Amino acid sequence: MSRNQELFDRSRHLIPGGVNSPVRAFGGVGGVPRFFQRGQGPHVYDADGKRYIDYVCSWGPLLHGHAHPVVLEAVRAAMEKGLSFGAPTGLELEMAELLTELVPSIEQVRLTSSGTEATMSAIRVARGFTGRSRILKFDGCYHGHSDSLLVKAGSGLLTFGQPSSGGVPAELAALTTVVDYNDAAAVRAAFDQYGHELAAVIVEPIAGNMNFVLPDPGFLQLLRDLCTQHGTVLIFDEVMTGFRVALGGVQALYGITPDMTTLGKVIGGGLPIAAFGGRRDIMSCLAPLGSVYQAGTLSGNPVAVSAGLATLHLAQEEGFHVALGERTREVTEGIAALGRAAGFPMCAVSVGGMFGLFFRATPPRNLPEVMECDRDSFNRLFHAMLDEGVYLAPSAYEAGFVSAAHDGDAIQETLAAAERSFARLRAAA
Ligand SMILES: *Cc1c(COP(=O)(O)O)cnc(C)c1O
Repeated sequence: MSRNQELFDRSRHLIPGGVNSPVRAFGGVGGVPRFFQRGQGPHVYDADGKRYIDYVCSWGPLLHGHAHPVVLEAVRAAMEKGLSFGAPTGLELEMAELLTELVPSIEQVRLTSSGTEATMSAIRVARGFTGRSRILKFDGCYHGHSDSLLVKAGSGLLTFGQPSSGGVPAELAALTTVVDYNDAAAVRAAFDQYGHELAAVIVEPIAGNMNFVLPDPGFLQLLRDLCTQHGTVLIFDEVMTGFRVALGGVQALYGITPDMTTLGKVIGGGLPIAAFGGRRDIMSCLAPLGSVYQAGTLSGNPVAVSAGLATLHLAQEEGFHVALGERTREVTEGIAALGRAAGFPMCAVSVGGMFGLFFRATPPRNLPEVMECDRDSFNRLFHAMLDEGVYLAPSAYEAGFVSAAHDGDAIQETLAAAERSFARLRAAA
């Protein structure tokens, strides 16, 4: 029996589903999850010692690949001075200075330990600021697992066929209005009906939790205009896209200024940090200045902040995101072209170090179109690639990630693996 299988069997006994986050269980693709014992650069090694080229990168944080020496050194240096103080440190100030410099719409910022806390807190402060309760979100966008946001919330839930979660009180879910991504008419209708009640609109400005979906031209500007007209707080959830698609996130790429931004994933470089921030007048509602309570024992933890600072500093290198975008495009367009050559309708979409691969002729614009993709073919490709030593996200509904450590060799190996995989898929068809 494989060591992965043995660990999974034992884990299932003690941990619900054998995993600490649902998509890890391979429920969408079937088979035994790989248990990893180490990572280096673009590679991860499973419990049986098999090597894979990793296109998950811990779901985004590892912008420079696994175990980058500069990041590890920053962690080591911080660690030796103590792990946590529960009191302010200069490192948190350094992080606040860097985030407000790189993302100019953020005038004030607060650190949390997870993206879930960041989005939950952003919603609370928007509600406190406006004195309103209702929020608007988009079908297929995921903003962490707090109650108000766990409504029609994308990949992890889709993989398990749940449109939303048990345990969320209907009274709370009723305060969340959901419309389709890129549906301008539905957004206008929602504002006509609820505009005066809407505390916030929260959106993934490029959606990475229903595979990978770009906003239509004008869609984000429409949200900006309607929020301004109605006194609604516009929250860009850039937990996934921040520092991944561009140094200043999607807002820098498209030139749209939200009132608030949530960040996570890359800003911890693999350790737990996230952040929420935005306009000074809104952020001033937070305790101890204002009445909106929000806190965290390990928030701004010096070890995690050090990993994040090192990760962001490496990403500030001139041309970093252009080069990352080129690699990402090369590997994803390459896979899609090989798929088409093998007779599968396929396309790829990528921005910076994030991508979507679709068994569909054209890129989807919203969740219903993502659901039209041929999931069966994706699952067979996933397992063929896994055999060939390439680790794709274990679900047709997840985005993929490329790091700066994915060099020419890793990309050529991936494309060779894809060519063999498609040949196997075709032989089996
Ligand atoms: C991952 C993610 C979150 C939640 O972050 P966690 O750290 O997993 O709690 C929130 N929003 C978006 C867009 C994400 O991708």
